[in-house]
Amino acid sequence: MTNKKNFNWPWPNMTPEALLENARTAAKRAYSPYSRFDVGAALLMADGSIALGSNIENASYSLTLCAERSAVAGMVSMGSLNPVAIAIAGGSSDSPCPPCGACRQVLAEFNPDMLVVLESPNRVIVINLNELLPLSFSLTGRR
Ligand code: ZN
Repeated sequence: MTNKKNFNWPWPNMTPEALLENARTAAKRAYSPYSRFDVGAALLMADGSIALGSNIENASYSLTLCAERSAVAGMVSMGSLNPVAIAIAGGSSDSPCPPCGACRQVLAEFNPDMLVVLESPNRVIVINLNELLPLSFSLTGRR
């Protein structure tokens, strides 16, 4: 069940649930030997392509890369710069795994209005990135 009345999902060929399934696949590939907190992210582009990302931990803990930023690196490497949505799966199945503050800012660089898909035990949550990071920092003043 999704909160469909609270958002407009305009991509009929990729449902929020299907995008979340891509994120679950990426979570299975996480490199998280220290925390065992596996996270996966799936970025949906306007052309329908998807960039996956997994969290990548490091023995020097502060060098750990979140799944969302890993997906952004994949997206840019694919030559895409126009994400429209991101799904994030991971952590405990008891609660959603929303993006951290740093990832919210990195995602806003490419589309401050992208939709963010999160999973919780009995439903899929879809929320606009602007709601998660109002007044994100921008040098262009376009927000
Ligand atoms: Zn993060």
